Amino acid sequence: MNISTTCSACSQRQEFELNWPITVHPCQKCHQELLSHPTQAFLNQEPWDQCPLCGASHLYQRKDFNQKLGIGLIVLGVVLAYFTYGLSLLLVTGIDWWLSKRIPPMGACYRCKSEFRNSKLIRSMEPFNLQLYDYYRNLR
Ligand SMILES: [Zn+2]
Ligand SMILES: [Zn+2]
Repeated sequence: MNISTTCSACSQRQEFELNWPITVHPCQKCHQELLSHPTQAFLNQEPWDQCPLCGASHLYQRKDFNQKLGIGLIVLGVVLAYFTYGLSLLLVTGIDWWLSKRIPPMGACYRCKSEFRNSKLIRSMEPFNLQLYDYYRNLR
């Protein structure tokens, strides 16, 4: 698994590869341990019950997909629909569907915004939930 996170002590952006069994992953700048909230599930490589970096109990998965690209594609389809008698809408819907099948999901933490990639564990995370997102945003 690849993890991209921000050190809670010095705010330095960090990226590292996580392998089991888990070893220490200190921050490259201030040496604070990044994986400061490991649980038994995390250590056993089971579906996570909390974020191993900040301890928040909510994680989500979404497509690792450039959202602007997706929206741009839809807009293009709508604009061209007039000239193509709606065919462009079908086409962009098809492309969108095709992309969503091919792009693997990424996991993320609502609280610390860490990102997780390249792991089957991500598929066990809940889909993105706007209410939870707002909840954690209000906490900050
Ligand atoms: Zn640090
Ligand atoms: Zn977190």
